[in-house]
Amino acid sequence: MDGIKVYAASLGSPPILLPEAEIEAAAHEAHVRGKLVFAHPHTREGLMNAINGGADVIVHTIPNAGVLDDSMLTPMKKAGVALIPTLKLWRHELRNDRTSQREKFVASGVEQLRIWAASGGVILFAPMLVTWTTMTPRKSSL
Ligand SMILES: [Zn+2]
Repeated sequence: MDGIKVYAASLGSPPILLPEAEIEAAAHEAHVRGKLVFAHPHTREGLMNAINGGADVIVHTIPNAGVLDDSMLTPMKKAGVALIPTLKLWRHELRNDRTSQREKFVASGVEQLRIWAASGGVILFAPMLVTWTTMTPRKSSL
């Protein structure tokens, strides 16, 4: 195991938040073993719990959180997290949505990445994930 991934907020509506204290406990156990904590943020609240709970890597942009403003950007920078954009994932995940809705969502993720990059934030890429989402038609369990 190279790390653990926590769902700071679940998929679905409404998303279920993993409390910051539980992320913190998981992060503590991972960190004492020298492992990284990857967090699936899904929502603004999920992102904040992940950051405050000690996540090392934010695994996706958060298109439904809107503009990556200072309320998110500053804590992300202060925590020193890295971001894996997974932009290609959004087109896959929203493939059954209306095109305009899907493209708006994707554009939000792209804009968040642009802002993160402009701030000097660390960006990681996960080519395996992109390949998987391109080639696997099953519902994502990522
Ligand atoms: Zn995820």
